[in-house]
Amino acid sequence: MIVTDSIYYQVRLTMTVAHNFDIVIIGGGILGTSLSYFLTSLNKSKKIAVIEQAHSVAFHTSGRNTGKVHAPYLYNPEKKKLFAKSAFHGYEMWEEYAKIRDLPFKKDGVIEVAVDKKGIKVLEKYLKWGKQNGLKEEDIELMDKKELKKIEPEIKCESALCVYRDASTDYSVLTDAIMKDSKKAGTNFLLDTKATKIKKENGKWKITLNGQHEINAKFLINAAGGEAVDIAHSIGVAKNFTDVHFRGEYWKAPSEYNNLTKSSVYSVPEFPDYPFLDPHWILRVDGTCEIGPNAVPVFSPHGYDAAENIKEFIPKMLEMLNSGARKAIFDKQFQELAMNEIQSSMSKTAMVSRVKKFLPKINPDKITEKGTAGIRSSIIDENGKFAPDVILIDDETSFHVLNYNSPGATGALPFSAHIVNHLNKSGLFNNEEEDAICGPWKFSEIIEKLQ
Ligand SMILES: Cc1cc2nc3c(=O)[nH]c(=O)nc-3n(C[C@H](O)[C@H](O)[C@H](O)COP(=O)(O)OP(=O)(O)OC[C@H]3O[C@@H](n4cnc5c(N)ncnc54)[C@H](O)[C@@H]3O)c2cc1C
Repeated sequence: MIVTDSIYYQVRLTMTVAHNFDIVIIGGGILGTSLSYFLTSLNKSKKIAVIEQAHSVAFHTSGRNTGKVHAPYLYNPEKKKLFAKSAFHGYEMWEEYAKIRDLPFKKDGVIEVAVDKKGIKVLEKYLKWGKQNGLKEEDIELMDKKELKKIEPEIKCESALCVYRDASTDYSVLTDAIMKDSKKAGTNFLLDTKATKIKKENGKWKITLNGQHEINAKFLINAAGGEAVDIAHSIGVAKNFTDVHFRGEYWKAPSEYNNLTKSSVYSVPEFPDYPFLDPHWILRVDGTCEIGPNAVPVFSPHGYDAAENIKEFIPKMLEMLNSGARKAIFDKQFQELAMNEIQSSMSKTAMVSRVKKFLPKINPDKITEKGTAGIRSSIIDENGKFAPDVILIDDETSFHVLNYNSPGATGALPFSAHIVNHLNKSGLFNNEEEDAICGPWKFSEIIEKLQ
């Protein structure tokens, strides 16, 4: 079997794949795939490849998330302007794309609730941020508990921010469609292919695939999600950063709860500087409901099960103890929060009770099936602080995207267009098609909206 696979792989590589590329993107998540789409559309004569170790795009975090097309009310417009703008325009781009391609997209809204008086001030701030980030009067509304009861009788809270311009989708389906468009435009997708070694020789990148074959690339884009920092380290970039992985787990609710609320329900996060959000009540695009995600510390970007975490425990602990993560993991607040998450992983009742605070009707005994867990990788700097935003690193012939976290899927299209524009402007490519039409969008118009 191994021999057959290996022969098949060699034949496929020799027959269908050129060995020299202009640009190689590592990572076929929603980001790498979207990047390839715009890059290929703008640089038709360039040979571009996406390398993805899984057998399909969006196999990891991009296909294992909450599936929300988020309205940008959680983001400070001064500190996270690009991320907020990407989310705002990402919504309309995904909506349009889903309509044209007949893909899942349901405008079902989200309600952010304050369960105590302290949270009301936070909701007021979110209302202001949401409007500053582009939401209109009709998109977002603050309500007191009596007003909310009239439209959502099952929700218990002090106050609620109803956000109507928020939707549900399935990001693995969207990424797969973007991959097909990108392929049509000329991108090579090498699936089941892991970049196992990267080195520079005579000014070119030599990338070893699956430990066996080599390809060359003039320029490298690192969009490897939970492995992005490892790839950056392997070529001497971003040495001052490390990462910590958190598994977000979900529980599926029985069908009798499908109409409990009309929108998804989130609660005001108590510790927004840490990657621990309280689990939400989630309406999935297929009409089912789930509770989640928590954020359980794990030892690998693929730490979905015990076997993988045991395998990676020692190397990851050593890495963390020898980096800024050491300060984070010895921080008392972090430890307390992490213990809370571990408890909610070990006990279903503990997890459900976090949602029961605002949806008292939910009975943990009726919730019996686990959903699909996804992993968030948060970057920590040398001072032990969690990076508050995405990190973009320009190197001479490579570009790295680290800490590309929520709402990364929502903003993936405009954010990728921004990166491609940045690379084009720095003269890396010839900028052949400045006014390129990328599916339903004109590239220059996407960029204009992000200014
Ligand atoms: C629990 C959870 C819930 C979330 N919910 C939402 C949400 O509702 N809405 C939203 O907008 N965002 C959400 N997010 C955030 C969003 O999912 C991410 O920001 C986004 O998916 C990141 O995409 P990516 O392409 O950077 O990473 P990934 O999807 O992780 O893709 C990176 C890819 O790189 C590949 N790779 C890595 N190393 C190599 C290598 N050496 N060789 C080949 N391939 C390699 C991996 O296999 C992987 O497929 C959520 C995240 C989590 C964890």
